[in-house]
Amino acid sequence: MQLLASYLHGTWSTGSGSRTALVNPTTEEVLAEVSTGGHDLAAAFAHAREAGARELAGMTFAQRGTLLGALAKAIHGAREELIALAVANGGNTRGDAKFDIDGGAVTLSYYAELGGKLGTGTLLADGEPIQVGRTARMGGQHVWARRRGVAVHVNAFNFPAWGLCEKLACALLAGMPVISKPATATALVAHRLAQLFEPLLPKGVLQLLIGPAGSLLDHLRAGDVVAFTGGSSTARTLRTHPKIVEHGVRLNIEADSLNAAILGPDVDLGSEAGALFLADVVRDMTQKTGQKCTAIRRVLVPEARFKDVCEAIRERVATIAIGDPSREDVRMGPLATAAQRDDVRAGIARLAAATEAVHGGTGDITPVGVPAGKGFFVGPVVRSTTSPMDCAPLNDHEVFGPVSTVGAYSGDAGFAAAFVARGDGCLVSSAYSDDRDWVASFVGAAAPWAGRLYLGSSKMASQSPGPGTVLPSLLHGGPGRAGGGEELGGERGLHFYMQRCALEGDASVLKSLVGG
Ligand code: NAP
Repeated sequence: MQLLASYLHGTWSTGSGSRTALVNPTTEEVLAEVSTGGHDLAAAFAHAREAGARELAGMTFAQRGTLLGALAKAIHGAREELIALAVANGGNTRGDAKFDIDGGAVTLSYYAELGGKLGTGTLLADGEPIQVGRTARMGGQHVWARRRGVAVHVNAFNFPAWGLCEKLACALLAGMPVISKPATATALVAHRLAQLFEPLLPKGVLQLLIGPAGSLLDHLRAGDVVAFTGGSSTARTLRTHPKIVEHGVRLNIEADSLNAAILGPDVDLGSEAGALFLADVVRDMTQKTGQKCTAIRRVLVPEARFKDVCEAIRERVATIAIGDPSREDVRMGPLATAAQRDDVRAGIARLAAATEAVHGGTGDITPVGVPAGKGFFVGPVVRSTTSPMDCAPLNDHEVFGPVSTVGAYSGDAGFAAAFVARGDGCLVSSAYSDDRDWVASFVGAAAPWAGRLYLGSSKMASQSPGPGTVLPSLLHGGPGRAGGGEELGGERGLHFYMQRCALEGDASVLKSLVGG
């Protein structure tokens, strides 16, 4: 049995202690094991602080961008191998695996290009120069400077490639060395990526801890940062971790999200905007078996279209083949772990007590091409409610699987925004309308509750990637329940890894410092 090694302080080592199995969620076959401890994490932090920080300090943005470009190329070169690992270890269909792996490569390429644009400087200007004296001679300029510390990345199980790459791209371009910890259950893809990346990066710039976090966070000190993606209960543990509290360690959290999709009162289901809405809801329910932090969990439609929407979603979902994700005819695989399957089933039971059945019952299915009784499968489940705002199981719990609930409303934009707000903060919500006044009322009231608002309409329908796709150029993160974090968003993604400093002095000196 393969024992996965971590890459720490310049060497690959398997650690020691008891072992945890990584399984194929389709067959429950054990694919590899990880040891749960025995790593010298103090040495890993020292290696990052010394070798890693030194290497990155000596590089311009453009040079760091060149490194990121090489990582993207390495992914392209090993794409088929990575896809096979994601199918086996993540229960991904080929399409799901590409979404994760290509998403990682695209994000690295985006930041490689940004590095080229930022050029040979080492400080980033933040806004325009400001006159602070009696004359223009005395000026002010805000800048972003590289932080002197280690960036610790803790990732969720659902995007082992993209999660690693999107955090790595921003940290490296900003100039911080990284210790990355993938979720244990699906670590095979991240492990292979680290093997591919290691020869392409200077020593100490990227280290990988495979297996449980153990005492990882106990080594944090002032200047370090932690970027976490995962569930809200783990996020709570991190927020109160003694080292994070003691040293004021910067912490970014991407957690649960009850994303909503809202159909505007002007949209017919047969229109381009209507077709886009239906396609987005069904894709988000079933892509990656609904295990996307950006997936649509709550659907709100005008009363007049409520029955038609339920029926249209039911029809589309019913045709989706579920089973062994390595088969070409299968469009939805299993959930990633037995624990996720049990959580999703519990979530369906909670919803069932407060909503009406549309499709899928309790999620029981007979998957195609899978040995009887094997695999962590739950079929797509659609529920409905005529009182969506009052439905606590819908608005208070994220069911991290192929489950959506359709609610009815009057069509009022204020109500639609209040429904977004009822999720207590989300990563993304979407509204589909060609009525600009309705959209303006909705956006003004919903924006404080969402990291991103996706505005579906007839005019953009043919170019739309859907709300579930996170773009490197746009912010990813959300307020409240979603963790209050911010990642990506182009150059903004670097700021978490940098310190903003206000410079005050001779305006011509300030100008020269930011390359003016
Ligand atoms: P999780 O159980 O919170 O685990 C997330 C990561 O935290 C894993 O790497 C896990 O390691 C690690 N971890 C667990 N306990 C820790 C501790 N005490 N100290 C340090 N690290 C610790 O979440 P998950 O089950 O992987 O992911 C599902 C959740 O993530 C969902 O609720 C979903 O909403 C959320 N999610 C959010 C986003 C987003 O961008 N906002 C994206 C994807 C998923 P082990 O695997 O070794 O336990």
